[in-house]
Amino acid sequence: MKPQNVAILGATGSIGASALDVITRHPGRFRAYALTANRRVDVLAELCARHRPAWAGIADPRLAPELERRLREAGVAARVAAGEQGLAEIAARAEVDSVVAAIVGAAGLRATLAAAGAGKKLLLANKEALVCAGPLFMETVRRHGATLLPVDSEHNAVFQVFERERRHAIERIVLTASGGPFREREHADMEDVTPEQAVAHPNWRMGAKISVDSATMMNKGLEVIEAHHLFELPSERIDVVVHPQSVVHGMVCYSDGSVLAQLGSPDMRTPIASALGWPDRIAAPSPRLDLAALARLTFEAPDPGRFPALALARAALAAGGTAPTVLNAANEIAVAAFLARQIGFLDIARTVERVLDAFPSRALRDLEDVVAVDEETRARTRRAIGNRPPRGLAAQAG
Ligand code: NAD
Ligand code: MG
Repeated sequence: MKPQNVAILGATGSIGASALDVITRHPGRFRAYALTANRRVDVLAELCARHRPAWAGIADPRLAPELERRLREAGVAARVAAGEQGLAEIAARAEVDSVVAAIVGAAGLRATLAAAGAGKKLLLANKEALVCAGPLFMETVRRHGATLLPVDSEHNAVFQVFERERRHAIERIVLTASGGPFREREHADMEDVTPEQAVAHPNWRMGAKISVDSATMMNKGLEVIEAHHLFELPSERIDVVVHPQSVVHGMVCYSDGSVLAQLGSPDMRTPIASALGWPDRIAAPSPRLDLAALARLTFEAPDPGRFPALALARAALAAGGTAPTVLNAANEIAVAAFLARQIGFLDIARTVERVLDAFPSRALRDLEDVVAVDEETRARTRRAIGNRPPRGLAAQAG
C-alpha cells in the first residue's frame, strides 16, 4: 500500500507538531507531502530538512526567496508555494490525499476551503474557518464530497460516539471545557490578569490565541458554533459542562438515557491519530489514562456572569448570517490587542460585544462576502480599541 500524502497547513504550530509526530510514527502509512507556515522560515526549513516534503508553503510571499535559499542550503528539493493562494493550491493538489487544517484564525479559510473544494480528507483543527463561513463551508464539503473529520478534541470525541445511522435517537451532545486558568477567579479579579497568566493553560499546551480563548471561554463559544455545523444540531441541543481534569472530552446523549463518552489524556495526538487513521485506529503515543490515579472527575455548569463570551457566541449563532463571522474577527483582533497589552483581559469580551451589537446581521453570499465582512470587522474593532499605549507602560507612566 502506498503511503497517504498528507499536507499540513500550519506545520510550525502546536497542532502541526503533534500531527508530524503521529505521521512520523507511521512511515508506511503516511508521508508529510507538504508543510506550510506563516512567517517562521527558519523553523519551516528545519521541518523540511527532517521530513523531506515535496512542497513547502509560506504565507508571507516576501519570505519565499529566503525559504528557497534555506532549502537549497539544506539540500532539500521541495518546491515552494507562497501567499494565501499558494497555500490554497497546495491543499488542492491532486497528489494530496489528506489535509490537516491547522492554521490559526480566519487566515486559514481560503486554504482550508480549497481542501474541501478539492474533495480531500480534511482534518479540521482550524475551527475559526468553520465559524466564520459555516454554511458556505459545509455546502462546499457536501458538493465536492470531502470527508470532514474533526480534530478539535471535543468534536473528535463526539464524532467517535455519534451514531450517524441512529441520529434520530440523539437528544443532545455535550462539549466539556476545562474552565481555563481563571475558572475559580472572581470576575473583578480578572480585570488585571496578564497575557502570561492567560496563556498558562492548566491542562493543554497550545498556541497563544487558543490559550487566551480558553481563558475567556470564547473557545467554547466558537466550539458550540463549530459543533452546530459539524453535527447539524441547534444551539439548545449542544451543552457545555466545565470539567477541569480534561479527561472526558465529549458526550452524546441518546433517547434511551444512554450517554456515550470518549475519554483520554489531554494530548492532541489522540484526536489527530483518530482522524488520520479513520475509519481504522492507529497507535498514538499519548499517555494512557490511569483512572485510579486520577481518582476524581468533576463537572460543573459554566458561570455566564464570569465568562460572558460563551453567551455572546450562542447569540451570534442564533442571529446567523454575518454574526458568527463578526464575532470571530472581533475576537481575533481583541485577543491580539490583549496579547499586545493594549486592552485588559475583560475588555476582550466587552469589545466583541460592542462590535457585534453595532453590526446588524445580514445573510452571507459567498467567500468574497465572508472575507469582506471579516476585514470590515477587523477595521471596526481596531477603531473601537483605538490607539492605546501598552497597558503596563501606561500604568508605569501614570
Ligand atoms: P499555533 O499558533 O501554535 O500555530 C498556528 C499555525 O498557523 C502556525 O504554523 C503558523 O505559521 C500558522 N499561521 C498563523 N497565521 C497564519 C497566516 N496568516 N497564514 C498562514 N498560516 C498562518 O496554533 P495552534 O494551537 O496549533 O492552533 C491551530 C488551530 O488549531 C487553531 O484554529 C486552534 O483553535 C485549533 N486547535 C488547537 C488545539 C491545540 O491543542 N493547540 C486544539 C484544538 C484546536
Ligand atoms: Mg477544543
